[in-house]
Amino acid sequence: MMKYEAVIGLEVHVQVRTRSKMFCSCPNRFGAEPNTLVCPVCLGYPGTLPVPNHEAIVKAVRAGLLTHCKIAEVSKFDRKSYFYPDLAKNYQISQYDMPFCTGGYLEIGGGKGFSGQDLAERQVGITRIHLEEDPAKLTHFGKFTGADFNRSGVPLLEIVSEPDMRSADEAYAYLTGLKEIMRYGGIGDCDMEKGQMRCDVNISLRPFGQKEFGTKIEIKNLNSFRAAHRAVEYEMARQAEELDAGHTLRQETRGWNDDHGETYLMRTKEEAHDYRYFPDPDLMEVRLSKEEIESIRASLPELPEAMRRRMVADYGISRYDAEVLTADQDVASWFDRAAAGSDAPKQVANWTISELLRLLGETKTAIADCPVKPEQLASLVALIAKGVINNRIGKDVFAEMFRTGTAPDEIVKSKGLAQVNDDGAVAAFVDQAIAANPAQVEQFKAGNAKVLQFLVGQVMKVSRGKANPQSVVALLKEKLQ
Ligand SMILES: [Zn+2]
Repeated sequence: MMKYEAVIGLEVHVQVRTRSKMFCSCPNRFGAEPNTLVCPVCLGYPGTLPVPNHEAIVKAVRAGLLTHCKIAEVSKFDRKSYFYPDLAKNYQISQYDMPFCTGGYLEIGGGKGFSGQDLAERQVGITRIHLEEDPAKLTHFGKFTGADFNRSGVPLLEIVSEPDMRSADEAYAYLTGLKEIMRYGGIGDCDMEKGQMRCDVNISLRPFGQKEFGTKIEIKNLNSFRAAHRAVEYEMARQAEELDAGHTLRQETRGWNDDHGETYLMRTKEEAHDYRYFPDPDLMEVRLSKEEIESIRASLPELPEAMRRRMVADYGISRYDAEVLTADQDVASWFDRAAAGSDAPKQVANWTISELLRLLGETKTAIADCPVKPEQLASLVALIAKGVINNRIGKDVFAEMFRTGTAPDEIVKSKGLAQVNDDGAVAAFVDQAIAANPAQVEQFKAGNAKVLQFLVGQVMKVSRGKANPQSVVALLKEKLQ
């Protein structure tokens, strides 16, 4: 049993989705030919003047409001000085002591964690969220390195958590929760493969019961949530081993080698930078009125966690189903519309998960292009509840709806699929099936009750799936007695 408790904090960078860059009018677009989306400002030429991007500031405030932060009415930009080939002007415009957002939190847990164990509900504190500019992107090609300034000046949020997490699963849940919020809030796409979300982990160990923190180790540039989870587990084991051996840990920055599954030393604290922060003289303080902050608050979407809780309470669906349905914001709102218009929202959830998501996946169709309207699924579920069609025919009807976008009642009418509920008509199907399967009828009469299911199937086949299944079973039993 582990005798140490891990103390974990995360520093996450999220590129903000905006039309233009943070301080110039170059497009903020991923994937263009290197160094084609540039101008003197984002190339760092001397004498140029930055102009702050209002859209990015609004999105920074949105990120803060969605994570329950206090929003500063007065904020400012500072210069963070350092020398590196990705930073042509030798300083990055960032925020030091007056960020836009402080003192928030994110809710995690309530379901299964990444490793499959239950994860208790709790809040992870958010220390601050500030806005800065992304540096250029360096790519190493063996003997030389390329710098792509298309990324230079892209608005970037830095989101710093409190050291509130205690396990790799909690860190993972925080990262997925944060990504979900950023995407729901329209703040960023957070595609890690495109570098739109990057994460550093701070981790230390201390004996259980001890208040003081242990020596903090920072792990840089984790490029996936899975890598973050593995790196935390690796560091917990490594640091525990060092402490058990009586060694003192040094404060250091480590990298993560995903192939080897281990962290490695990058630099120790002695080499720590002094960034010489000072207010950027080219930029005014940013003032946000209470009215402006409130109008941003009024435009916020419902958060996924709140949405899940509401769906469980209002629609009577399971927590797991709510998680599946809210994994994608567009699917969630599609389902919401369908369920809200139905007397049987739980059935609507089942159909959405088992049929709709399956067909979307098989046909590689985005929900936005889904031919079935939410109201049409609600009517299909109603047709089944009223006994107009049975569940099996319902699946065929849904497949047809998905192919053509036709309303379910029209399909049922035009294809003559309505369930046969008339006992006389069902009795005729039953008689046909009994006549065609004398051997099975004998087996049933000899006491083999399992054959009944086969005979039910035969009646359904004779009726081309349209007979009311309850009537079929009742009539079969009656006639075979
Ligand atoms: Zn530019």
